Amino acid sequence: MNIFDKFQPLAQTRQAMAEKAGAFFNIVMEEVLSATEAVIDGRRVILAGSNNYLGLSFNRQCIEAACVAAREAGTGTTGSRMANGTLSGHVALERELSDFFGRSSTIVFSTGYIANLAMLSTVVGPGEVILLDADCHASIYDGCRLGSAEVIRFRHNDPGDLEKRLRRLQKRETNVLIVVEGLYSMLGDRAPLVEIAALKAQYGACLLVDEAHSLGVIGENGRGLAEEAGVEGEVDFVVGTFSKSLGTIGGFCTSSHPELDLIRYASRPYVFTASTAPSVIASTREALGVIRSQPELRHRLWEGAERLYQRLEEEGFRLGPEPSPVIAARFDDVDRAFAIWNGLLERGVYVNMVLPPATPDGGALLRCSLNAEHTRSQIDRIGDAYASLKHLA
Ligand code: PMP
Repeated sequence: MNIFDKFQPLAQTRQAMAEKAGAFFNIVMEEVLSATEAVIDGRRVILAGSNNYLGLSFNRQCIEAACVAAREAGTGTTGSRMANGTLSGHVALERELSDFFGRSSTIVFSTGYIANLAMLSTVVGPGEVILLDADCHASIYDGCRLGSAEVIRFRHNDPGDLEKRLRRLQKRETNVLIVVEGLYSMLGDRAPLVEIAALKAQYGACLLVDEAHSLGVIGENGRGLAEEAGVEGEVDFVVGTFSKSLGTIGGFCTSSHPELDLIRYASRPYVFTASTAPSVIASTREALGVIRSQPELRHRLWEGAERLYQRLEEEGFRLGPEPSPVIAARFDDVDRAFAIWNGLLERGVYVNMVLPPATPDGGALLRCSLNAEHTRSQIDRIGDAYASLKHLA
């Protein structure tokens, strides 16, 4: 028996899909021209499938800060945060994130995925319970698997289902960590955080909110959904990533529990991987400054998002429940979604195609993500491209 035999079903599925999907499995960004345009297969396309919500990956100051840091501190740390991988920039960024969120402690991790692995595998342990929104990101599920707490899922965005489970758990007198996201990445819908925070307080649980898609995007100051919902005081742990609105790579957890610092010593995903490069830390610090000083980027992002959501709704696409910078068109039929995805690419628009099992309802999603740098004319070109393909939906 060959070690790869078990991959045969996967290979067959991939082959069957490749016949319908055209370029899908071979997308290479041959050139990235800006936060909104790239060259794919020799064709200039509008990038409407990245998480670069504020367009900061091409911000001049962020790039400059990265260049200076690379010259001064080298291309990488080549070590764990626990060993030689904590540079003064890492510590400064942790301080700046604490200040931004009004919290006492922050840990910077190498990616958002690692931040979730670290938190969920460490902060709760044997005999304790994680109550998880069923649509949470894979990194949250993987963190649960790495740890040893019991994991119970509740129905997506359903506080009634959450309460039922909290009530049952009361008898067990154990610690419970509720885990939700702010803005959900698949359909762009918000968590009902006011209700969830009230249940957390009522049942004496802890609450972790992954604000990966809401940092810099939601809230008067860009602190995410907890800020917008006015419940930051009930959120014990905010997890986030640098790979979306901050335009770099890395992750963090911030909290007002001073014990957060102990996670550094107890968490394998913190200890056993190299820390983020100095250039990345430097541009992230600069980007955080931009989030603070340029709220107009956030406003521009929402203007565009509402414009495109309305257009696609008028064209008859079945969308996520509310306008957001993630605008997902939903399809029961994967073949139709592939046909539209191909058509969009031919018309110079790149969006993300999401296939089961990554989708919430077993269908396919064409997930269009906007950023603050998309011009009105680009947004209208995206809308026109969808409109010209609606007969295939
Ligand atoms: N959490 C959520 C909700 C995400 O969507 C993602 C990335 N898609 C992550 C965490 C992981 O972030 P990173 O890309 O920094 O690993």
